[in-house]
Amino acid sequence: MLRRFYTWLSFAGEPDIRVAQYGELKRQIPLLYALLILNASAVSYTHFAYAPGWLTLGVAGLLITVSCWRLLIWAFAPPVVAIDATVARRTLRRTTILAAPLCVAFVSWSLALYQYGGPLEQAHVALFIAVTVIGCIFCLISVPQAALLVTVTVMSPYLVYNFFHGNAVFTAMALNIALVTGVMIRVLLNSFAGFATLIRSQVSLAAEQAEAERLSSENARLALTDVLTGLPNRRHFFAQLDSVLRSRKMTGERFAVGVLDLDRFKPVNDTYGHVFGDRLLAAVGARLASRATDACEVARLGGDEFGILILDDIDRAREIGQRICDLLTEPFDIEGQRIVLGCSGGVATFPDAGSSVHQLFDRSDYALYHVKSLGPGVCALFSAEHETLIRSERAIEAAMHTADFDTELHVQFQPIFCTETMAVLGVEALGRWTSPTLGAIKPDQFIMAAERLGFMHAITASLFRNALACFARMPEHIGLSFNLSARDIVSTDTIDLLIEIIERGDIDPKRITFELTETALMRDFEAAVASIKRLRALGIRIALDDFGSGYSSLSYLHRLPLDKVKVDRSFIADMDEASGRNIISAILGLCQTLGLDCIIEGVETDGQLQQLRDIGYRMAQGYLFARPMGLEAFLKSFDRGWAADFRPMSPGKPKLQIVA
Ligand code: C2E
Ligand code: CA
Ligand code: CA
Repeated sequence: MLRRFYTWLSFAGEPDIRVAQYGELKRQIPLLYALLILNASAVSYTHFAYAPGWLTLGVAGLLITVSCWRLLIWAFAPPVVAIDATVARRTLRRTTILAAPLCVAFVSWSLALYQYGGPLEQAHVALFIAVTVIGCIFCLISVPQAALLVTVTVMSPYLVYNFFHGNAVFTAMALNIALVTGVMIRVLLNSFAGFATLIRSQVSLAAEQAEAERLSSENARLALTDVLTGLPNRRHFFAQLDSVLRSRKMTGERFAVGVLDLDRFKPVNDTYGHVFGDRLLAAVGARLASRATDACEVARLGGDEFGILILDDIDRAREIGQRICDLLTEPFDIEGQRIVLGCSGGVATFPDAGSSVHQLFDRSDYALYHVKSLGPGVCALFSAEHETLIRSERAIEAAMHTADFDTELHVQFQPIFCTETMAVLGVEALGRWTSPTLGAIKPDQFIMAAERLGFMHAITASLFRNALACFARMPEHIGLSFNLSARDIVSTDTIDLLIEIIERGDIDPKRITFELTETALMRDFEAAVASIKRLRALGIRIALDDFGSGYSSLSYLHRLPLDKVKVDRSFIADMDEASGRNIISAILGLCQTLGLDCIIEGVETDGQLQQLRDIGYRMAQGYLFARPMGLEAFLKSFDRGWAADFRPMSPGKPKLQIVA
């Protein structure tokens, strides 16, 4: 109990309450001293004629000077915001301790004046003590420790003095005053308890508020950060792009937006699994973050796509993008595996390539998508050539919206030959679109447009019906190859329809091969495998088209249920070099080991044919034998025997002896 009282009296613990007490005291205590100064001056004045000068002027002057000094000290004391709990506690203790001698001095002075003057003067002294002590208690309402001390130090000598003085009226008055001050102390303690509770709840509210603010700023930070890589995320990237664009529009300064896309990430992810893929992405993020500067910000846009904002040195924006791509071609060591990725990029500059967030981003994306179709590892700048391409794509898209596919689309056929006997083994159906407004459009162009616009299902259905109708008129021993796009192979609707068309017709499904590119399979590997399994269950064959032009992931060759591989025609061009020949030969060996048929595409010269024969290729396709042609032309050539139509690509070279 005593210990608790001492702790309370010495202002220990609860630092926030001490600081609040200091604040209140700083507001009230100058009033307390002002009250003391005025009241003491009044008593001194009324006793001037009766009491000795050393008491009314000397002692009173001294007390008033000390009070003035204390008043000034408090008036210039540091504000509550500038002090901490230790200073507050020290000041409160000092003030409380100082109150005792000051009270003793004042009360002794007032009691010394009692004996001078008449009953009125005596009453004035009693009033002075009573009013002053009540005033002081009020001023010390937030520091009950000091209020209690003041009451005790003033009231004790006052009561004792009056008891022994023998005047019953003054004793009764002293008792009254003691009673009033006692009650006031009780009220003051109650009100202080309320004050302390208020401060405590304010402190806990402030703590809750600070925690809520911390959480909300943490949430805001997380909302703008990519969790996997720690880089700024897509939302942050676009907000930043928007703000840079706004400020650069005002200053007219240039800047560049870039989109980076990892090469070969998908096959790695498919082969090693998603956890491994995530680790790899985190390592990519760390490498990119090491290159990020104030003038070159890097963000993860999603998947294996990253965005860059180049704010300086815009003439070299493409080189900066290329350097970042090169950085990602250095091998990564993940879980003891050495992984070699690569990166392609597209960069668009403001204001040259566009003046809106949308335009700039789309154009850098377009430059990326275009450069990626030419080969991996390159960063391209959006140029006038891209602009022309975009225009022609838009024209194709517009024409496609109004096209009547059944009348405007048709198929041509390019035969596939046996290199030994030169017999036709099959035909590849190649889609053709002749738009009434734009004329003939290349298949890769209209296929891409159809994929973008969602017309692929309708186009594939129309072309396949057309191909089967033509195929029905072809010799029974040859096969039909038909190309499926990335959209087709993952669309259950399209696969259902193709199966339905085959089942309704008379053609043996074993004679049909669907050709799929690696890129098409990579979009959604699981869905593609499911479709392939359904088609193969009917006896349909599956060929991996353009093998070697993409990532040539060997894992696809043995993980996919395949029947054939079509070697991309780009390999033929390298056949003059021994290394090129070795690769072509190695692919053939691989296919033979895996029990897959191997067809080489793009044979254009008889020299190439000769070399391919020597390597061991038994199936080939190319302009040397025949270009794609309509049904009638195919049937006519077939009937006549191929040799009659044969046109070698390079004039002057000896014609081949072809056996149909
Ligand atoms: P692809 O499936 O690799 O088809 C072979 C392409 O190579 C054809 O181009 C063909 O004309 C061309 N070609 C054949 N032999 C030679 C040669 O000796 N030298 C050269 N330089 N080229 C040769 P085409 O018809 O322009 O088709 C281009 C691509 O468009 C096709 O490549 C295929 O991916 C796609 N495609 C064509 N028709 C269809 C279709 O009906 N559906 C789908 N989804 N894609 C199609
Ligand atoms: Ca093909
Ligand atoms: Ca091909």
